[in-house]
Amino acid sequence: MTKILITEFINQNSLENLNKKFDVMYDEKLCENEKKLITMVKDYDGLIVRNKTQLNSNILKNAIKLKFIGRLGVGLDNIDTEYCKNKNIHVQPATGMNADSVAEYVVSSSMSLIKKIPMFHNGTIKGEWPRTTIKSIEIKQKYLGIIGFGTIGKKVAEYSSKNGLKILAYDPYVKEINNKEIDAKLLSLKEIYEKSDIISIHLPLTDETKNLINKSSFSQMKNKPILINTSRGGIINESDLIEAYNKNNISGFALDVFEKEPIESEFYNMIKPGMNCILTPHISGVTTESNIRVSDFIVKKITDFFN
Ligand code: NAD
Repeated sequence: MTKILITEFINQNSLENLNKKFDVMYDEKLCENEKKLITMVKDYDGLIVRNKTQLNSNILKNAIKLKFIGRLGVGLDNIDTEYCKNKNIHVQPATGMNADSVAEYVVSSSMSLIKKIPMFHNGTIKGEWPRTTIKSIEIKQKYLGIIGFGTIGKKVAEYSSKNGLKILAYDPYVKEINNKEIDAKLLSLKEIYEKSDIISIHLPLTDETKNLINKSSFSQMKNKPILINTSRGGIINESDLIEAYNKNNISGFALDVFEKEPIESEFYNMIKPGMNCILTPHISGVTTESNIRVSDFIVKKITDFFN
């Protein structure tokens, strides 16, 4: 019987469906134990992971029977896809299955930050009643710059234009936008920095995108934008971001992803109460609904593959 190993959490119902067809081993803590994974992986035909399982060549060279890797989510930076290609291992992301969840996160955090909700909240719970000392603005007619105009970037554009934002996009691999579907304008990165009131990042982490948003980028931002990163840590340089905030080059930030996850004191010690920021533990794509969609999708793909 085909053997499947699952190393991170999956929706219970989807797991039960998988159990009916395959010999399944489910251990959601296995992603934290590389040694154990190395010894186990040799027996399995299929692997299902999220983003915590580091499928480097060190692990994959032991996966002698492996033919399929299902990724419960998108972003393949934790998988050595080059190695998989050479060994003919099919890698399947759940493209689009959590796009709505991420887009809702971007809409809600951009709204909160432009309204300075974290600052009002902090002042209010301290008894300061900062009704006139903190100034907020409206989102309508402001420019949202989207960097990376793929599945999620487009979804964010769709959601945000309904809230009255004007959409700008940067993506060198997208040559044109069908404006009947999405009302957005393709610009250079420099123009995005100069024009945007909010900038949202939707890129894969690659050699090209690592450290893409750095000191030089922040110095080009003219409108003190809000920065939102739900894609991958490492694309924004974190200490340059905090410096830009402290120098008033940007007016707020929402981070769902970090260079090191979980975040370490070196980073969170730079975050002070009263900053206009929102930090979350890599959850923008994880909701009850998206977990079901993502899990069902991968279960279907792995079933089709081995049938
Ligand atoms: P996608 O592949 O559909 O879109 C990515 C876009 O980035 C593509 O259009 C591509 O052309 C563009 N791109 C690549 N290199 C670029 C560069 N150097 N400059 C500008 N654009 C570039 O992927 P997606 O589904 O939209 O997801 C985007 C990323 O979001 C994923 O790679 C993943 O890392 C992250 N993500 C995070 C969560 C979360 O929970 N925080 C959830 C889902 C996805």
